[in-house]
Amino acid sequence: MDLNKHKQFALEHLKSNKKLAQTLIKRKPKDLDRITADLHVDAFDEIDCLDCANCCKSISPIVTDKDIQRIAKHLRKKPSDLVEEYLYLDNEGDYVFKSQPCPFLGSDNYCSIYSVRPKACAEYPHTDRQKFYQLLNLSVKNTTICPAVSHVFEGLKENYNIKK
Ligand code: SF4
Ligand code: SF4
Repeated sequence: MDLNKHKQFALEHLKSNKKLAQTLIKRKPKDLDRITADLHVDAFDEIDCLDCANCCKSISPIVTDKDIQRIAKHLRKKPSDLVEEYLYLDNEGDYVFKSQPCPFLGSDNYCSIYSVRPKACAEYPHTDRQKFYQLLNLSVKNTTICPAVSHVFEGLKENYNIKK
């Protein structure tokens, strides 16, 4: 996976991706969730996250209290020690990882806490979610990080005949 090439592609398409998001937010097409979910499956048929890991390398998920309890138990640590070692409160009052790449990402792109990873990690990149129109603006930002989201946006443009 050539992440530089992906980033360049995503930046070149940022304007049209924003336009797509605004158009779909206005139109709220009834079949948006179904079409997006199909494109999500297509994207992950082609893309292997283990060749990428760009989300784990470049952004932090929100880590909830439930996540902290679960991960701390798995690592046999006190939740307060986990927080101190790995997390800080961001401007919005959410815990996020102190460092990027994520401290749990291995050099082989495997997540060392995969079975107990934060819920936000398990749900990323959200392109199979219901009421996807609510996530369109966030997803525009995600096109610059996640090649699968770029793939979904290109497919949506084609499907809804919105100029690329
Ligand atoms: S979810 Fe997207 S950014 Fe994260 S590893 Fe998979 S393809 Fe890459
Ligand atoms: S916890 Fe795992 S899945 Fe989540 S960002 Fe870190 S390495 Fe990636």
